[in-house]
Amino acid sequence: MRRRGPACSGRRASWRLRWCAARLCPARRDNALAFWPLYPTFLRALFTRAFTKGIRDPLHGRVRESEWRAAMVSLRDSIVYCHACAAESFYDADAMRATGHGPTCWSCGVEVQLPARIRVGRSVVMLNHDGALYPHHLDDARRYDFSRVAATVTRHPAQPHVWGLKNLSDEKWVVVGTGTITEVPPGRSVALAMGTRIHFGRVEGEIRV
Ligand SMILES: [Zn+2]
Repeated sequence: MRRRGPACSGRRASWRLRWCAARLCPARRDNALAFWPLYPTFLRALFTRAFTKGIRDPLHGRVRESEWRAAMVSLRDSIVYCHACAAESFYDADAMRATGHGPTCWSCGVEVQLPARIRVGRSVVMLNHDGALYPHHLDDARRYDFSRVAATVTRHPAQPHVWGLKNLSDEKWVVVGTGTITEVPPGRSVALAMGTRIHFGRVEGEIRV
């Protein structure tokens, strides 16, 4: 006969967590199921692999630490805010390609209006009102370096509906727009316009709106 365990209160007691993990207590299982559809396709695929092939064939299927690390940074870069209620959701490129729609807000149910985004190096970063780029994004030799802000989303001082990306790095950017090439020195900004390409020095980014 299986021994009955204590009721799970959700408190962070290590022995309770171990018991819950082993016995799949309803409270934690329901929590995981409720959150599951909120996450982007790439992360759900990684979890699925980890707990299917990764368990059956650890040698070939296990998700490596470096993959988890890269996925967590991508998840961070995917955060968007609902324009109606400000709740956080995640941009899902795979779902966008399949449906043509952005995420549905888990809190108020509207389709989230996506902010501009930038594909830079191996990352796609959502340029929210408080968005920023770090050395991690702008230099492949400095992966996972979030020690300083290299660029921040900013609002035009005279035209509040115009958003830009401000150069907070020590290097000059070269911006290629529609038939124009301009330089953006440290402290200056470039407008977030569709198709604008920014040479950051070691990588290039392209704005999508
Ligand atoms: Zn909402």
